[in-house]
Amino acid sequence: MSSKIWLSSPHMGGNELKYIHEAFDTNWVAPLGPNVNGFEEDLEKYLQVDSYVAALSAGTAALHLALIECGVTHGDEVICQSMTFSASANPIAYQGATPIFVDSEEDTWNICPIALEEAIVDRIAKGKTPKAILVVHLYGMPFKVDEVLAIAAKYNIPVIEDAAEALGSTYKGRKCGTFGRFGALSFNGNKIITTSGGGALVCNTKEDKDKAVFLATQARDNAPHYQHSHIGYNYRMSNITAGIGRGQMEVLDNRVEARRAMNAFYQELFAGIDGVTVFTEPNEDFFSNHWLSAILIDAEITGITREDLRLAFLEDDIESRPLWKPMHMQPIFADAPYYGGIVAEKLFDNGLCLPSGSNLTDEDRARIAAKVKEVFGK
Ligand SMILES: *Cc1c(COP(=O)(O)O)cnc(C)c1O
Repeated sequence: MSSKIWLSSPHMGGNELKYIHEAFDTNWVAPLGPNVNGFEEDLEKYLQVDSYVAALSAGTAALHLALIECGVTHGDEVICQSMTFSASANPIAYQGATPIFVDSEEDTWNICPIALEEAIVDRIAKGKTPKAILVVHLYGMPFKVDEVLAIAAKYNIPVIEDAAEALGSTYKGRKCGTFGRFGALSFNGNKIITTSGGGALVCNTKEDKDKAVFLATQARDNAPHYQHSHIGYNYRMSNITAGIGRGQMEVLDNRVEARRAMNAFYQELFAGIDGVTVFTEPNEDFFSNHWLSAILIDAEITGITREDLRLAFLEDDIESRPLWKPMHMQPIFADAPYYGGIVAEKLFDNGLCLPSGSNLTDEDRARIAAKVKEVFGK
């Protein structure tokens, strides 16, 4: 029996245990310590531009703290890309704010700049200027950074960049995660590198980082006893998991290369199949880490739906998954305002994410290719 081929599974580099052993040897078994500091420094160095990184328990926690630092509170409105994972939108609800969902555009599958501006103008006309714009680099593909930042600047609204899927991606040579007022990274088990679970907030200033760490460690005022003048959170990263992160940073470039090679593999595999397109960069300004490779299937041309292909893969223990179901189509957000057309809906109907891990073997690729050829009769 051959083993299951996963969509995206953890891929250790080798030195992770060394850092964990150091933590045990020195008894830094706590949500602070040399691995936390070291991991933050590794990330700051990797991101290149001046940034201050706070290591946290999750990417979701990073987004939550970013919203708090942008002053988002009860009754506010926050613009959010609809086509994304729920973890982008949930922290808006944690703050008692309302998400205003915006459609995608076809080049990057990320927020449509035209619909974004329409949304801002209409919300202002209705009486509320959105407190923040939460934009996502979906599957590692950078959003249209210049366009989005120009609109945000025009209306003076801070951008929160959800780079959970995009560590290692760049736009015009600059690393994703460094464009917004805040950037959020994730090191969940399925991401391009992992700490088993974890995240980080990328800040522009040391003050913003210090505030994030303060809030993430229960908001203790400077006093010998426990004194509090803010609501705090327990969001800091553990020194053990940060050790995994330090080991993973040593192999990040290699992981980006391997994920991009998977994308190239799919481009070649589907090149001869009419009606299937592999999601890739619109032009050279965009460099995706291709965290997940995805395809769009035009069922009218192929006679095959994305569900047909998903179920066929499943028979052979190959995991694939529909694209993120847009947030404005989710029951929990049914009442939230939405701007745009049906781009995200169509992507959801026709898109499928394919096995994309950096640890897939030639044998795995052969199994995937055989199944694709069987399904499409090529
Ligand atoms: C994974 C992910 C998150 C959340 O990160 P966690 O570390 O799992 O909390 C947020 N946004 C997007 C787009 C993600 O893919």
